[in-house]
Amino acid sequence: MTPIADALRDAAQTLAGASDTPRLDAELLMAECLGIDRSALLLSRMRDEAPHSFAALLARRQAHEPVAYIIGRQDFWTLTLKVTPAVLIPRSDSETLIEAAIDALADHPPQRILDLGTGSGALLLAALAQWPAAQGIGIDASPDALDIARTNATALGFDDRAHMLDGNWLKDGWHRGMPGPFDLILCNPPYVETDAALAEQVMQHEPHSALFAGADGLDDYRIFIPALPHLLAGDGIAILEIGASQRADVSALAAACGFEVTCRQDLAGHDRALMLRRNSVA
Ligand code: GLN
Repeated sequence: MTPIADALRDAAQTLAGASDTPRLDAELLMAECLGIDRSALLLSRMRDEAPHSFAALLARRQAHEPVAYIIGRQDFWTLTLKVTPAVLIPRSDSETLIEAAIDALADHPPQRILDLGTGSGALLLAALAQWPAAQGIGIDASPDALDIARTNATALGFDDRAHMLDGNWLKDGWHRGMPGPFDLILCNPPYVETDAALAEQVMQHEPHSALFAGADGLDDYRIFIPALPHLLAGDGIAILEIGASQRADVSALAAACGFEVTCRQDLAGHDRALMLRRNSVA
């Protein structure tokens, strides 16, 4: 028999070429096989026999499939969300948008929240968890993503507060039917340059429609930012995720639409969240 401790050691070596976190990945996949969490695995199961089902999960990870898709879930903010390859895996970088919202809205909690391109529902559902009296709408162009977002809303008990709707800012007049105005708009759009060299696990497995946005990665900002003045309440705030080098370009697009812009950095110190407020002088 192979004890779990040995299987994990071998697996970490096997995954070294496919993952930046091979040991952690091996532990998460092993815990998944056993139906327990990682701390229970580490605390009490290391001498047990490794389950046969581990090999198949290990092979998937070795082929660059992200752990979140293999186990079907990802933690984001205070939540655990279901994810499939129909949605981008929520990243901790995006929690910067929630931190920014909490700071910006400390004195006036938002009543109505909009999440553009909600995917798994991560940003909207995190915001609804933060503000229990708020109502929210998440829109997405992908029916499969909306299914996941609705499943997550239901699992969290947010069915009466989270409405996941079909919406696509590439279509003319997309924002006209929206029941605004909104106190808080969140958006993590596609913003990767078309020819960017992404990690294999992203490139091969995550939805390209949620990642790529033209030669300079700015196509989607150019399209949806001009609609924000129609959707945002007078004293509302829109918080947009950006790529680390896009602050100046996206700020200029927002300024041209009458917004004052500030930026918040993620934990790695990269520019990550732009906060747009109506320009009081304009
Ligand atoms: N930060 C993501 C990545 O680099 C991109 C997310 C996005 O385009 N919205 O993989």
